Amino acid sequence: MAETNRAWFERASVVIPGGVDSPVRSFSSVGGVPYTVVEGEGPYVVDVEGTRYIDLVQSYGASLLGHAHPQVVSAITQAARHGSTFGAPTKGEVLLAEAMTSRVPGLEQVRFVSSGTEAVMSAVRVARGATGRSKILKFDGCYHGHADHLLVAGGSGVAELGLPGSAGVPPEAVADTVVAPYNVIPTLDETFACVLVEPVAANMNLVAPAPGFLEGLRAECDRVGALLLFDEVITGFRLAQGGAAEFFGVTPDLWCFGKVIGGGLPVGAFGGKAELLTVLAPQGPVYQAGTLSGNPLATAAGRSVLEHVTPASYIELTTRAQAFGRDLEAAIQRGGIGARVVSVGPLLGLYVGSGRDPIETPTNYVEAKAIIDQGIYPLFFHALLRRGVAMAPGAYEIMFVSMSHSDEILAEVVAKATEASLEVAASR
Ligand SMILES: *Cc1c(COP(=O)(O)O)cnc(C)c1O
Repeated sequence: MAETNRAWFERASVVIPGGVDSPVRSFSSVGGVPYTVVEGEGPYVVDVEGTRYIDLVQSYGASLLGHAHPQVVSAITQAARHGSTFGAPTKGEVLLAEAMTSRVPGLEQVRFVSSGTEAVMSAVRVARGATGRSKILKFDGCYHGHADHLLVAGGSGVAELGLPGSAGVPPEAVADTVVAPYNVIPTLDETFACVLVEPVAANMNLVAPAPGFLEGLRAECDRVGALLLFDEVITGFRLAQGGAAEFFGVTPDLWCFGKVIGGGLPVGAFGGKAELLTVLAPQGPVYQAGTLSGNPLATAAGRSVLEHVTPASYIELTTRAQAFGRDLEAAIQRGGIGARVVSVGPLLGLYVGSGRDPIETPTNYVEAKAIIDQGIYPLFFHALLRRGVAMAPGAYEIMFVSMSHSDEILAEVVAKATEASLEVAASR
């Protein structure tokens, strides 16, 4: 068999539906065939054809240090030597839980699961169990994983495919899910168990919370006795050491984590105050479980990441990412297509548009979608990919700069972005 991306994708498509294990990887919204990765190192990934890309996907935020960081690799191999799962408590889960709770102000306890989806699903169950209420509120364009009751008006791949939700989700499953526009403080009543929010919306491309939005949610939840749930699956341990709660100074009742805390292995976690979490089995009536939860390999990997970074690392990452964002925006504009790079801390969202004029910063899903619907992203994505820079194959995803992306590497991306922009502008 020829070692080509096409051949591997065709082979994958025989045995894996659509050839992918997560729809965002499929290139269905940008066209073409995905590259099949054989290895990654720091800021790079290499495909089966031997092409090396500067990788701005970084497993959609799961990688903070870059691929195959030596300390993480060593933590995983060490842990593997002692056995990878037991069905009994292990030291590793205690150590990671301590590392997390000591870094996030207000977070007292966490329980580990194996994905962000599971974390949110479990946290919503806690909120409903603790309040005895059924209704939940989420925001248009926010993504909280693929549990039935959260698959409405979702961002990421759901937005990519232009779906209002998902087939296979019965109306009853979403009957208690209320959707509201991001950045508008909703009016709640005593029937709401919780409000779920991405404190920085990072699945409708990037949309920053307006000043006062998160504070307003906190106050509105308190007014009616609903719980505030921060889905920090992306922002946790990336925006700052203490995540969005520290960054914005707003403390939720429940947190969800994933991505960074697994160091590249499958982990999620949800948590909050110890008193609230007494509702969870075995202490309370809310059932939640997992054979591989708190997995020794995954918790070792996650802990090695958290221990590797300091508050100063986040400042450095933010400074570098923001400078890159500014340069990237200017470089694309220079090439002839409209661009706006939105940044919040080290998080970067690139919007490209059909006009030459600068693009206005979107404040919600409708505004983000209006820019994305101009259809320039797929052209720009491929022009950049041909030059060895891999961004996410979907315009609703954000760019991830890892700790391994040096100034030199980012400068290379900027130079290639001008070329890509010139090419796209010339083709139109
Ligand atoms: C990725 C993501 C999830 C889902 O996590 P998985 O590990 O993919 O299940 C949930 N919420 C947010 C904000 C995410 O970005």
